[in-house]
Amino acid sequence: MQTHILGYPRIGSNRELKKACEQYWSGKTSLQELLETGRNICQQNWETQQEVGIDLIPCNDFSYYDQVLDMTLTVGAIPKRYNEVALKASNSELDLYFAMARGYQKDDLDITAMEMTKWFDTNYHYIVPEFYKDQEFKLFSNKIVNEFVGAKQAGINAKPVIIGLISYLLLGKEKEEGFDKLDLASKLLPVYIEILQELQTQGAEWIQFDEPFLALDLSEKAKETYQVIYNEIRKKFPKLKFIVTTYFEGLKDNLSLANTLPINALHIDLVRCEEQLDDVLNTLPENRILSLGVVDGRNIWKNDFEKSLQLIQKATDVLGSNRVFVAPSCSLLHTPCDLELETTLDNQIKQWLAFAKQKLTEVSLLKKLSEDTTDKVILNAFEENKKAIANRKSSTLIHHNDVKLRVDSINETDSRRKNSFSIRKEVQNRVLNLPLFPTTTIGSFPQTKEVRSWRAQFKKGILSSEDYKYLLKEETQKTIQWQEKIGLDVLVHGEYERNDMVEYFGEQLAGVTFTKKGWVQSYGSRCVKPPIIYGDVYRPHPMTVFWSQYAQSLTNKWVKGMLTGPVTILQWSFVRDDQPRNITCQQIALAIRDEVRDLENAGIRIIQIDEPAIREGLPLRKSGWNDYLKWAVEAFKISSCGVDDATQIHTHMCYSEFNDIVQNIADMDADVITIECSRSQMELLNAFADFKYPNEIGPGVYDIHSPRVPSKEEMVKLLQKAQKVIPANQLWVNPDCGLKTRHWEETEKALIAMVSAAKEASTKHASKTLETIN
Ligand code: GLN
Ligand code: ZN
Repeated sequence: MQTHILGYPRIGSNRELKKACEQYWSGKTSLQELLETGRNICQQNWETQQEVGIDLIPCNDFSYYDQVLDMTLTVGAIPKRYNEVALKASNSELDLYFAMARGYQKDDLDITAMEMTKWFDTNYHYIVPEFYKDQEFKLFSNKIVNEFVGAKQAGINAKPVIIGLISYLLLGKEKEEGFDKLDLASKLLPVYIEILQELQTQGAEWIQFDEPFLALDLSEKAKETYQVIYNEIRKKFPKLKFIVTTYFEGLKDNLSLANTLPINALHIDLVRCEEQLDDVLNTLPENRILSLGVVDGRNIWKNDFEKSLQLIQKATDVLGSNRVFVAPSCSLLHTPCDLELETTLDNQIKQWLAFAKQKLTEVSLLKKLSEDTTDKVILNAFEENKKAIANRKSSTLIHHNDVKLRVDSINETDSRRKNSFSIRKEVQNRVLNLPLFPTTTIGSFPQTKEVRSWRAQFKKGILSSEDYKYLLKEETQKTIQWQEKIGLDVLVHGEYERNDMVEYFGEQLAGVTFTKKGWVQSYGSRCVKPPIIYGDVYRPHPMTVFWSQYAQSLTNKWVKGMLTGPVTILQWSFVRDDQPRNITCQQIALAIRDEVRDLENAGIRIIQIDEPAIREGLPLRKSGWNDYLKWAVEAFKISSCGVDDATQIHTHMCYSEFNDIVQNIADMDADVITIECSRSQMELLNAFADFKYPNEIGPGVYDIHSPRVPSKEEMVKLLQKAQKVIPANQLWVNPDCGLKTRHWEETEKALIAMVSAAKEASTKHASKTLETIN
């Protein structure tokens, strides 16, 4: 039996790579310094794995920005717009690489970055390969071989991690019509062969091909391409050992395809899909090794050794121990580096957790334990593990009977408004008395340096709670006055008290905790520290009422209460694995419901519940969609439906694919939804128009991701375009998203223009209506 891992976090346990990259980008350090940091991290990661005794240590799992972009550079799929960057003698290969990742505004050039999107259902973002009709590939970068040689010099015969050819193509996007990216497989194959040739020459024994798409819904063409390509590769390299890895889902209907591939080992994710083990064991071809992904690479919980050992036992019973590998379920990229760095975490909670470094130890212990060891240290570790698991099952920190009872007693009326939208609309019109095309914003106003420094000082104890509050109140007051002055209809308090839309609620909810150094790479040098939902969630006290009530007291206009929805809180956290996600989501929903009601009681008549993450929670396989959408929509409704007809519920989502879930969005039954729309020039609205979306809708009229100030005329045009597909009395006017990342300067100009655009659109609409009457 051997142990291996699919990949290790590369940001460094103190985010060394982040700092090194950002310094290099700002011109403060040299390329040599950056490269040295990179080498040190690789070295450190290898040593850590060696110390633990991992048998097959990966290389090329390191990346300066993103592993997909690494592959793009490796195979020379460099979009033409970077030609000038590439040709410039002073630019290194890494400069070109960063230009592709981040855009290039220098030397009189202004070149956009490549697109970025989420890596399957994780919060990691990869750079999307661009494919063109006349796409050519050639070996451009030697990163893979260089890293292999680097490991060899450190005394390790590493296993290079390479994105499999089919998955690489499927991750990309055709940038013009008239071809299918899978048709590029035969052109790409020679480059893969060249790389493998060099690795073989250098002495590589094992090669890992990541093929996550093998665990997703595949077209017939993709299945065929898998067979053709892997057969070709095998023909050229009869001796190299190939392990194909799958993760995040089960092989399911692709199992027979996976079995026909001429490879030496297959890795399966038994955390996400334990059920597949029996089928795989029953059908695995002779001599093939099975790699068991038993340690969760997506979450931070300690492995349940007893359970994993049963799975391992089952596999060795059928295959014999020499045909079994033990591994984490996927790359450890998605977990923080090292739990030992957490010095302030509650000790009871800490004993339930394992970060990347601890997961290495788990993998190694599992192997030793399955070999019937008598070693005291190892047996003790097993006992400790059993204790921690048992303790988690019964801990009063986690389990609160009243929360469980409340979830059990949720009934249908909890997720239904008292009356239908058409009745509510009448009541709301009367009570709220808003004009046609009401104007509003999405919640946050610019978080200036000052605001952020107050928070930092408050957290460090330099600023007292009273002083901090005083400053925030002043800022809120200014914002309310300014919104009144420019004539916005529905105001917001500005969200100055919040660092992050999930963290702010996580910090106040019971059952949720935070780490100090639990960073996980989100994209490039950006890392996030997801909250850890460890126990039954409830709301010990109101979370936002103070700020909303304070803001409302300053004005006669309506101030919108601002909450983050249950699905988004769930989606952007590390979630418990000891109960189904939907139950955790229901608990959060009840907490938000209480908050919504308290806001209503405090006189807040408009309440927005943001759900930007509902779409990204969709299961990877279509067969799982219905079930997910059902409980996700229900959770939103539990949180939002406890109010009177007169209270207007808003929601906000900011992404661009609505077509396939517009029915579910309608089922959420928010009175108003605000969405991102400006970058698509209102095209997105068509999904709502075709569907005849019944409730009100605020299509964003300007893009907040750029400092550019839109003109009034532009926005009037967009509003007219919107009116062509959505009746005027259903339309709101707002930006695409929150303004937190913008500066005041551009925000002021943009919103003033937006308000006058709404006025003009309203006048035009009135005169048009008159015309038709006459
Ligand atoms: N209310 C949040 C804000 O304005 C919404 C952010 C989001 O949609 N991501 O910042
Ligand atoms: Zn948004």
